[in-house]
Amino acid sequence: MEKKKIAILGSTGSIGTQALEVIEEHSDKFQVEVLTANKNAELLIEQAIKFKPNVVVIVDESRFDEVSEKLWEHDIKTFTGEAALAQVVEMDDINMVLTALVGYAGLLPTIHAIKAKKSIALANKETLVVAGELITKLATENGVVILPVDSEHGAIFQCLTGEVQNKIEKIYLTASGGPFRGKKKEDLQNTTKEQALKHPNWDMGAKITIDSATLMNKGLEVIEAKWLFNLKPDQIDVIVHPQSIIHSVVQFEDGSMKAQMGLPDMKHPIQYALSFPYRFTSKSPRFNFMVYPELTFEQPDTDTFLNLSLAYLALEKGGNTACVLNAANEIAVEAFLNDKIKFLEIAEINKRSMEEMEFIKTPTYEDYVSTDAETRKFASSLI
Ligand code: NDP
Repeated sequence: MEKKKIAILGSTGSIGTQALEVIEEHSDKFQVEVLTANKNAELLIEQAIKFKPNVVVIVDESRFDEVSEKLWEHDIKTFTGEAALAQVVEMDDINMVLTALVGYAGLLPTIHAIKAKKSIALANKETLVVAGELITKLATENGVVILPVDSEHGAIFQCLTGEVQNKIEKIYLTASGGPFRGKKKEDLQNTTKEQALKHPNWDMGAKITIDSATLMNKGLEVIEAKWLFNLKPDQIDVIVHPQSIIHSVVQFEDGSMKAQMGLPDMKHPIQYALSFPYRFTSKSPRFNFMVYPELTFEQPDTDTFLNLSLAYLALEKGGNTACVLNAANEIAVEAFLNDKIKFLEIAEINKRSMEEMEFIKTPTYEDYVSTDAETRKFASSLI
């Protein structure tokens, strides 16, 4: 079997570094073609020297000299800037693009990768949240498969394998409930970022960890699921499952339910997306029923964690509403991480932005770009 040649966008992050561990474990099957980072030049250089990609991109131009000076003697091409990030995915040698960068920045490179007919392993859920309609249409037109990396969507995807002819009645996305499960608004008035950054089950980047604490992450996943699996909002249910063992569930028309389970370890869904349609071996620890004699389930508390309801509203309304929600949330989370707003204000800023921003029913790419920019301006004015 020829090695699959992979471009990892966001190789210095939580998903990116775990993807490189998977690739290292299966170096006979995968080859790294491209690595990219935003600012983390040190780690990017280290990764490049180890994995010997053809090209690296450091988006932050102020770090470019440092990276290119270190890598020229290794015969690795170095580029910088957002345009380079978007274009690098078009290289002939690439078979698959893993979008492991965070936030709206993933949209343009993903569009370029789809137009260049590369398979997509999609971790960057924000891309589908912002422009799901455009991305899925482009993928269909170009015959491109989008393989989900998010553990819940990876689980649904695995449950659906071999079921092409069978209709989905509904899906259940499981949620750990985050660090504040069971808390009410009055308990969360003075929540600090240190508390919010402590996720009980998953070790992830800062943005998604805060999104998990506010349940925005689950909301973004509901929107992501709609586009990945072509579902209506009432076909997508969220159930809190604090142990994070069942990663999600599909219910078919005959009432039968298929779940995918295992220990919470992102290397599983990353590896499955990279290796699909095959399963490769894995050294990760195995699940033991006796360690988890009880798996429990609860309803999510959408009064306290308003963001989940906002995501359903965005889905119902359609158009550019989810793009507004995403942009407001990116601004609000950054402000919370910089101690500029309180925890509960994140959802308030998202709600206000959804109420105030102009609605566009059938947005073009340019509409998404302007919606994102205008919403960022508006949300920033609330801080
Ligand atoms: P991290 O913050 O850990 O890493 C983000 C990566 O993207 C880094 O390589 C970072 O570079 C790069 N990056 C950040 N901003 C930009 C930008 N503006 N332009 C280009 N590159 C940028 O994030 P995660 O790995 O946690 O998450 C990545 C994506 O995967 C997110 O969309 C998240 O929702 C999704 N996801 C993550 C999971 C997880 O377990 N972490 C689980 C499921 C989904 P630098 O290091 O230089 O800043």
